Amino acid sequence: AADFVIEGLKASIEGKEILKGINLQMKGGEIHAIMGPNGTGKSTLASALMGHPKYVVTEGTAVLEGEDLLEMAVDERARAGLFLAMQYPSEISGVTNSDFLRSAINSRREEGSEISLIRFIRQMEAKMKELDMNPEFLHRYLNEGFSGGEKKRNEILQMMMLDPKIVILDEIDSGLDIDALKIVAEGVNSMRSPERGFLVITHYQRLLNYIKPDYVHVMMQGRIVKSGGSELAERLEAEGYEWVKEELGIED
Ligand code: ADP
Ligand code: MG
Ligand code: MG
Repeated sequence: AADFVIEGLKASIEGKEILKGINLQMKGGEIHAIMGPNGTGKSTLASALMGHPKYVVTEGTAVLEGEDLLEMAVDERARAGLFLAMQYPSEISGVTNSDFLRSAINSRREEGSEISLIRFIRQMEAKMKELDMNPEFLHRYLNEGFSGGEKKRNEILQMMMLDPKIVILDEIDSGLDIDALKIVAEGVNSMRSPERGFLVITHYQRLLNYIKPDYVHVMMQGRIVKSGGSELAERLEAEGYEWVKEELGIED
């Protein structure tokens, strides 16, 4: 199973320490939510795990099936099964959605076992239908001119096509209306499996009504300060984050 263990992860941006020792243990099949106020380092955690060059890991390990992702190059991490649906997906002009995805799939496969064009198109069309996406998006340049909601659906489409072991969803709910949110959540739920773990980063509890987490972690000032079950998310929704700060004696 896709067990994933993060230990003592510290990361800096431009010399400033943002992640101050993250510990997190996920077992295959589990959904973990990370909630927290803006600016506490949630996206930094996602980027550091993916190997974004701006985020310098200074300490710690992130072990997936016995291998430390933090010692791998970015493309090796993706090949090892790590996937990030980004908070702000970038637009790439001149590369169509279908070109991008087909080469991403093939880069994860052995030479000689590339996906055939016909098979790829069929799979892609089926998934796009599930996500209620216009087939025309196959041929559009990656994220160019996509609305916020279309970008998020496209991130989920990528996840479904790439079949990753660890999925990180960074504020996939932002910019989605309720109907789009339900479609995205159904897409995620259809991918639940003992072979896959999910790390769902969200500022709001609303998403967690549709993607039910097994564990909820509160992140503040670069640390996970509190963990619990889904009742924790409900309390955060009702009462905000102040009580956590008071309980733990955290100052702004
Ligand atoms: P969250 O996702 O929890 O809202 P972030 O991880 O985006 O928080 O940001 C954590 C801190 O790191 C913030 O103080 C933010 O200003 C800073 N930060 C994030 N990304 C960058 C960047 N690319 N350059 C400089 N500072 C950054
Ligand atoms: Mg933010
Ligand atoms: Mg963020």
